[in-house]
Amino acid sequence: CGIVAYVGQQEALPIIIKGLKRLEYRGYDSAGVALLNPEGLSIYKKKGKVSELENHLSSKESLQSKIGIGHTRWATHGEPNDVNAHPHYSSNEMFAMIHNGIIENYDTLKTDLINKGYKFHSETDSEVFIKFIEDIYVNNDCSLEEAVRLALHKVVGAYAIVLMNKEEPDTLIAARKGSPLVIGVGEGEYFLASDATPIIEYTNQVVYLDDYEIAVIRDGKLQIKTIENVETNPYINQLEMEL
Ligand code: GLU
Repeated sequence: CGIVAYVGQQEALPIIIKGLKRLEYRGYDSAGVALLNPEGLSIYKKKGKVSELENHLSSKESLQSKIGIGHTRWATHGEPNDVNAHPHYSSNEMFAMIHNGIIENYDTLKTDLINKGYKFHSETDSEVFIKFIEDIYVNNDCSLEEAVRLALHKVVGAYAIVLMNKEEPDTLIAARKGSPLVIGVGEGEYFLASDATPIIEYTNQVVYLDDYEIAVIRDGKLQIKTIENVETNPYINQLEMEL
């Protein structure tokens, strides 16, 4: 239901938690984050309020990360619980993904993946989505960005997604169709969110991602292309600050 992601020089977790709280008005049943540091790519998630996720995190170490993705879930496939909460891992735990929306053909995709040996931990359509991307990545020996692009030609439904990759520690990959996604452009840092409310305190420059567009933030640069692989020129809107 709600997405907040960050990449830059600041600590990602406080920005993500604050942002998820700003999106609480949208309603949700669970919350989670993925962070990346020398200890690895870690996912923390909890049923309930963002404050419950915070309590859960207070007992953890190694939460330092300059990149992260956070999610509040409004369950559509699978009951609200810790396992069904986002982010979800790929089976090799190299990638983590958050997803807003519904994948309508998840059942057929899931059957194919199970036949190929994939195991599922959650009942969500979202875990099918990331493992579908993973399968394309593995079989095509391509970049994650390209695997996402190819996957988007096959999934039916609505989505706003953001992915992190353990092997690309300064990269966020995002895409949307039918669910909103806003990119905040800061000084050497980027924010992604379902709407501008979590972003506005950091920057008033935002790019609204369009349907069938993929945003890749890598090495402090933003690139947007369509799912047909055509690069587009991001249009930067200046938001009115209401501080
Ligand atoms: N369909 C996904 C799920 O049930 C995402 C729901 C959402 O948009 O929060 O996990």
